[in-house]
Amino acid sequence: MKSRSQDPLRLDVAAFAAEGGELAGQWPGSSLERLAGSQSPPQDTPIADVEWRAAGERRPVTGGEPELWLQLSARTPVWLTCQRCLQPMQEPLAIDCRLRFVRGEAEAEALDAELEDDVLALPRWLDLRELVEDELLLALPLVPRHERCPTPLQFDEGPAGGDEAEIEERPNPFAALEALKKGRSTSGG
Ligand SMILES: [Zn+2]
Repeated sequence: MKSRSQDPLRLDVAAFAAEGGELAGQWPGSSLERLAGSQSPPQDTPIADVEWRAAGERRPVTGGEPELWLQLSARTPVWLTCQRCLQPMQEPLAIDCRLRFVRGEAEAEALDAELEDDVLALPRWLDLRELVEDELLLALPLVPRHERCPTPLQFDEGPAGGDEAEIEERPNPFAALEALKKGRSTSGG
């Protein structure tokens, strides 16, 4: 660890990259509220800790400003609901990514579209935990499923459920127009 003390929740990315800083640690799973909220653990089972690591790098560019990079990795087991048997399942979730930081939203957007790497606008202070959480949320499987479901599935081939058409109550735009016209005609003249 370098001499300068760095707060992962209030990280000066430019300085962190310039000094080639490294940070690592564990966060309680409950402190990543969005990730915790998207999990469905069995009763009385706590959300697991998130192990993480971050490294900064400043890459010199000939004839230009040096590039600011952040190497980010994290892992945690997450509780999801199997979409086949609807039972809870624990799955290892991990990220390992490289992010480049540039000055200004416009520049970040342009480069993000152009390059394969993720490009973010350099904030004054970066909340590393929030960024790690964002990346973990993106890495969640869309349709989690046991490789083999623990309980045998029952195939109830019942009649297909009829589709329920939802009838929406909407204000009739013509009624509103009519009311408007009436108001006008009495005052007009
Ligand atoms: Zn299953």
